[in-house]
Amino acid sequence: MIYMLEDEEGIRNFVIYALKSSGFEAEGFETPPALYEAIEEELPELLLLDRMLPEEDGLEVLKKLRSAPGTRKLPVIMLTAKGTELDKVEGLDNGADDYIAKPFGTMELISRIKALLRRTYGSSADTEKLSLGGITVYPSKHEVFADGEKVNLTLKEYDLLLMLMRNRGQVFSRDSLLREIWGYDFAGESRTVDVHVRTLRQKLGDCGELIETIRGVGYKAGDGSID
Ligand code: CA
Repeated sequence: MIYMLEDEEGIRNFVIYALKSSGFEAEGFETPPALYEAIEEELPELLLLDRMLPEEDGLEVLKKLRSAPGTRKLPVIMLTAKGTELDKVEGLDNGADDYIAKPFGTMELISRIKALLRRTYGSSADTEKLSLGGITVYPSKHEVFADGEKVNLTLKEYDLLLMLMRNRGQVFSRDSLLREIWGYDFAGESRTVDVHVRTLRQKLGDCGELIETIRGVGYKAGDGSID
């Protein structure tokens, strides 16, 4: 999934159409809040970010994404009409992975996207697969299946599941999960973790029992056996 934040409807529609024609899943957003909301629901594999936005400069959006744990490493290509050297350097200094000056052709855009996806996820990234009982996760695609059915998780639910599955058998306290997933400066309480585990389990159906509660401590990914 590729997201695009671009206030100009014409450009947005043109790019989304071009991406879909090239076999990508893609969704466009007009405003930063709409983008942030979508990211909470589903983290894309890559973001196309317009520099000149009326409400909030694209650089500010980039800084916010880079300071949040869930999007710190999200691949970002900045798009801008300002093709000067200074703008380019500013974008890259603030954490953009690549930079394309408007006007651009879709051929160039698509090949830059493919190159960045290869750099980020590797050419074999599509085949990376984590399994636990009936749960399968494809990290490069942010896809989760439970008993063969695709499961739609929010960003935090996904991060939780991935953290537990990558460290199978290890018990995590609520505080350590908060720190790892919500970030060290998150002002919430440990109940937040419980709420997310509950919705995660519900979405996983029968496989939800593989996320085990360790009474008085926290959670772990187990194999479903009683020990
Ligand atoms: Ca614009």
